[in-house]
Amino acid sequence: MNTTLLDHHVLGPELARTPYGHPFRAEFRAWLREHATGEPEPLDQDARFEFRRRWHHTMAAGGWTGLHWPVEYGGRGADPELQFMYYEELALARAPEPVNTPGLILLGPTLMAHGSDLLKRAFLPGILSGGQMWCQGFSEPDSGSDLASLRTRAELDGDDWVVTGQKTWTTFGQYADFCFVLARTEPGSARHHGLSMLICPLDQPNVTVHPIRQISGDAEFCEIFFEGARVPRDWVVGEAGQGWQVAMTLFQFERGDQGYTDHARLLVRLLDCERVLGAADLPPERALAAREELRRLWVRCQELRLLNYRGTLLAAAGQSLGAVGSMTNLVWGELEKDLGSLQAEVAGARGLVLGRHDTHHRLASRAASIYSGTSEIQRNIISERLLGLPR
Ligand SMILES: Cc1cc2nc3c(=O)[nH]c(=O)nc-3n(C[C@H](O)[C@H](O)[C@H](O)COP(=O)(O)OP(=O)(O)OC[C@H]3O[C@@H](n4cnc5c(N)ncnc54)[C@H](O)[C@@H]3O)c2cc1C
Repeated sequence: MNTTLLDHHVLGPELARTPYGHPFRAEFRAWLREHATGEPEPLDQDARFEFRRRWHHTMAAGGWTGLHWPVEYGGRGADPELQFMYYEELALARAPEPVNTPGLILLGPTLMAHGSDLLKRAFLPGILSGGQMWCQGFSEPDSGSDLASLRTRAELDGDDWVVTGQKTWTTFGQYADFCFVLARTEPGSARHHGLSMLICPLDQPNVTVHPIRQISGDAEFCEIFFEGARVPRDWVVGEAGQGWQVAMTLFQFERGDQGYTDHARLLVRLLDCERVLGAADLPPERALAAREELRRLWVRCQELRLLNYRGTLLAAAGQSLGAVGSMTNLVWGELEKDLGSLQAEVAGARGLVLGRHDTHHRLASRAASIYSGTSEIQRNIISERLLGLPR
């Protein structure tokens, strides 16, 4: 029996432009077989981050990071279909999740679109190799969904911008070397005008990074206080004052790439959940309900997969994702939460123990309908832009 094909069946029916027999899949699988050891990820957050950082270095050394980056920037110039298959194979191999996604998926491509040659030369190599870690400094205590209300400001002082303000929910800020910060740089400007995206080094006395302890026991995100932090004058992504347009480009990458990774990882987790359910000692009616939920979730995973595929085809045709990005985000966020709940139900009492991966998944999954735009905001976008409903 062909085990490779069996593995692929976890993903569901073959899709025309990303066939399971594609030579790219075979090449990447061979590499993964050699390098992805299957060693379980540590539970401790710091150890887990280091584990993933090492994996990033291994991938980079093999030329497997930034696959979709143009060759001139050290990538492989992979087309969207290859990128789609890449994420599916990573999930099937149960490879560790990547670190530095704010750099690889968000800032890197945004720098390529808007950044000066100076910034591209200075930062793209470190993002790719994992030599520099990045975090995203957009949200503030009173500015999340309504990002344009942000209050962090930056003023020119000689050759530097001086940044003052507070960011929050900054994922893995404690491990980052740099933060891309959205700040108001034109005094008196309002809303979407007069903002700039600055690259701020975090290792300086005027920056305090304060991790926030979560219900899961981890501290995956931080508050960052900028109290006169210095940023070199040229370290603005795009034109000063045009930060909103730059941020919109970045969000386009966030909504596009987010989904690619996740349908495959969700399907693999669903398979694990099915195995646990098979061995679990649940009362018959709860086991039956769990099985039905598993099937419903499998269908929803396929829905997500097709949305990702649709995004892939749009990207391959050079078209923007538009509201398809919001649909993908919405379906993914709600699915992630429901799978987290099912995993907890199936794990039963064992799942109550803090420090276990299934507990972590369950608790962490609650955030999935919040970050990268809440479900309510995605629904607003879909109803206004896709369905033409009034605001
Ligand atoms: C795990 C996690 C990681 C994150 N990582 C980062 C990061 O690295 N960098 C970063 O900058 N940010 C990050 N964020 C922040 C994230 O972008 C914000 O949480 C998100 O944009 C929502 O903003 P908020 O939390 O301020 O909620 P609010 O905007 O205050 O929303 C509160 C509630 O009101 C609803 N709501 C708000 N406006 C509307 C509306 N117009 N119509 C209907 N309902 C509405 C929302 O849906 C939500 O339910 C992260 C968040 C989480 C949970």
